[in-house]
Amino acid sequence: MYNLNPFTEEHNLLRQSMRQFVQTEITPHVAEWEANKVCDREVFRKMGEAGFFGVTFPTEYGGSGMDMWGAVVIGEELAWANIGGLAMSLYAHTYLPLPAINALGTEEQKQKYLVPAIKGEKICALGVTEPGAGSDVGGITTTAEDMGDHYLVNGSKMFITNGTMADFILLAVRTGEGHQLSLLLFDTNIEGFSAIPVHNKLGMHSSDTGQLFFENCKVPKSALLGDENFGFYYIMNNFQEERLIASITATAGAEHAMEKAKKYMKERKAFGKPIGSFQVLRHKLAKMAVDVEACRSISYRAVAEFMEYGPAAVKIITMAKAFACETAVNVINESLQIHGGWGYMEDYGVARSFRDMRLLTVGGGTTEIMYEIISKMEVDEVRHERQLMDSRK
Ligand SMILES: Cc1cc2nc3c(=O)[nH]c(=O)nc-3n(C[C@H](O)[C@H](O)[C@H](O)COP(=O)(O)OP(=O)(O)OC[C@H]3O[C@@H](n4cnc5c(N)ncnc54)[C@H](O)[C@@H]3O)c2cc1C
Repeated sequence: MYNLNPFTEEHNLLRQSMRQFVQTEITPHVAEWEANKVCDREVFRKMGEAGFFGVTFPTEYGGSGMDMWGAVVIGEELAWANIGGLAMSLYAHTYLPLPAINALGTEEQKQKYLVPAIKGEKICALGVTEPGAGSDVGGITTTAEDMGDHYLVNGSKMFITNGTMADFILLAVRTGEGHQLSLLLFDTNIEGFSAIPVHNKLGMHSSDTGQLFFENCKVPKSALLGDENFGFYYIMNNFQEERLIASITATAGAEHAMEKAKKYMKERKAFGKPIGSFQVLRHKLAKMAVDVEACRSISYRAVAEFMEYGPAAVKIITMAKAFACETAVNVINESLQIHGGWGYMEDYGVARSFRDMRLLTVGGGTTEIMYEIISKMEVDEVRHERQLMDSRK
């Protein structure tokens, strides 16, 4: 059983400084970044300088070596900033590519990529999804042909967070048949690479989403991360941290929307009394409170199991991702409803939560894929280790 209050004094101090950072470096720019459809590069440098990217990474690479509760603190405070696009850009930089580089990289790769990324000097992205393959990771068609001393990369990627800003991309490429994929540390200054912004998104406006093109890009063999043809296995493992952070973000985002609804119920009057006196809305809020607690319970338990078993805690992490993300979307929807017509306007920030958080049930693996994974483990009693072994064939 995990500790119901896992946060130590160190975590609490981190929370204070992250909250301060949100107030001074993020909140004043929300309107500008949302309108520009991209955040400022400078915020990456400032996050790095303050040490927020390195919280869970080893001290020898510029991190602070904290446990996963440190990442939870950062995730919760960013969710409370209520600018999902920026939060997504910052996570896509930290928890999508960096854990794999930390786990699999050579010393040279860590010095070249992990260290400057933790400092916020280099921006990074994870490039898996393609125009024709998202959930079906094994169906990607971007190829890396072995040319002896280098790989020749051809293909394209879609919906890549930080795609046009990135200095390097952890890129999933096909190096063989079936599930024989590999991961490359791809420098975006390589000739033949180009990226265009994808602007027509429902929400997450302040985050840079890119479509990427690779035309005869010569990538040195030293860019291979881990072993050739084991990329599918690495990607599946790497998803666990991304999904944990998604659950935490969903929980905090739902709580934020619930608190807004609570406040509005006290302020707004209808039929001569505060709307908070109507039982139907009081019960709606009560249900939202139950939902938020349930999200927190499963998400915190998933964090605790991840700390104990690593990516092998796949079942509870997958459950947390499915439950917290679906539930958060519903809670935020109810908050908008409680705000009436004003909820549909930009004034209260609920409209932004509504459109940003809608991505949670799609990004990082859809809810349907989460249930697919859980059903294999529950119904077919497939053990995680066995699944991973199979995916390596
Ligand atoms: C704003 C944004 C940012 C993103 N950032 C990144 C990023 O940084 N890096 C990256 O690599 N990707 C990124 N993605 C891609 C995201 O991970 C994919 O969109 C997601 O995994 C779904 O893939 P898809 O869009 O191809 O949908 P599809 O896989 O085509 O799915 C379509 C529908 O079919 C369902 N479906 C598919 N297969 C099954 C099945 N076996 N059983 C039941 N239902 C199924 C899905 O659940 C979904 O409802 C981002 C997407 C968005 C929109």
